[in-house]
Amino acid sequence: MSKERTEISSLGEFGLIEHLTRNIELQNASSVLGVGDDAAVVDHFGRQTVLTTDLLLEGVHFDLIYTPLKHLGYKSVIANLSDIYAMNAVPTQILLSIGISNRFSVEALDEFYEGVYAACEKYGVDLVGGDTTSSQKGLVISVTAIGEVAPGNFVKRSTARPGDLLCVSGDLGAAYVGLLFLEREKKIFLESPGVQPDLEGESYVIGRLLKPEARKDIIAFFAENKILPTSMMDISDGLSSEILHICKESNCGCVLYEDKIPVSEEMRNAAFKFEIDPTACALSGGEDYELLFTVAQSDYEKLVLNEQISVVGYITEAEQGAHIQTRGGNKHAITAQGWNHLRG
Ligand code: ADP
Ligand code: MG
Repeated sequence: MSKERTEISSLGEFGLIEHLTRNIELQNASSVLGVGDDAAVVDHFGRQTVLTTDLLLEGVHFDLIYTPLKHLGYKSVIANLSDIYAMNAVPTQILLSIGISNRFSVEALDEFYEGVYAACEKYGVDLVGGDTTSSQKGLVISVTAIGEVAPGNFVKRSTARPGDLLCVSGDLGAAYVGLLFLEREKKIFLESPGVQPDLEGESYVIGRLLKPEARKDIIAFFAENKILPTSMMDISDGLSSEILHICKESNCGCVLYEDKIPVSEEMRNAAFKFEIDPTACALSGGEDYELLFTVAQSDYEKLVLNEQISVVGYITEAEQGAHIQTRGGNKHAITAQGWNHLRG
């Protein structure tokens, strides 16, 4: 990290905005007008527009003690892009607003924006606007993402049907275990600041928390293989809570097989160190940013071509409820505990 410290006041609000946005080169034809006017102009040329926004508050959604600003910038964008992909849409623009105190230097904001621009570049989206204001206490970040989808191709949560296959992308639970490690080290650090953090060998789970990715590849795979999921959402609160959303919104039930839930070797080993059940981490841990979706059984042949997709169960009639079939052969009702419960 650079030792220089430039006060935000030396640039002023407009100077700061100019500084933070000076290198933007618009990448999308749909970005007709970007930063610099009263509003941006976007033209999706006959496609439908998908919009989502998120507000992130220091101390509630992130902890600057163990979150590098660059990662925070990256993750703030990713969380929003994930919501656009979860609609089966392609993100094209973001608006990013920040509330900052003079605790932050221009260099610190540069680090944050490095992460923002890295995500924009990787996912092909343009930063076309935002707002900058001072905050008395704590960093405030608001990201709005805009995306496009062919008319009628967006996928809702409410349209799963009995018999559909229940699927997830990637692996689950690792971000939550990563959080456990960072919380543990934070506690040790606050008690004895001289102690070096012991995070050896946990880079996968910590990376899943600090530097998540959005599943652009899965949406592209659907388009290439002409798969239209019957329902979809992203997994930001843990698998069980998201499955219950799909079941409730779609007025269906489901059967989820514990042994089909994808978990990484790294997450499993890390969970054992905390003496917690890896399945519980996958079911109730948050911030994985994977996709949960349902497809018609007739799409099964196409689906198995993608190793990043796991079929974890199937949708039933509502009367059958939402159940998990455990490895031991028992059947339990799925409950939405979410990661806050796990945490407590
Ligand atoms: P207004 O007074 O109309 O809100 P601003 O001075 O806040 O205008 O913003 C000027 C331009 O800079 C607008 O295009 C706005 O979207 C953009 N902008 C402001 N803050 C940010 C930021 N943090 N990141 C990116 N663009 C920003
Ligand atoms: Mg403004």
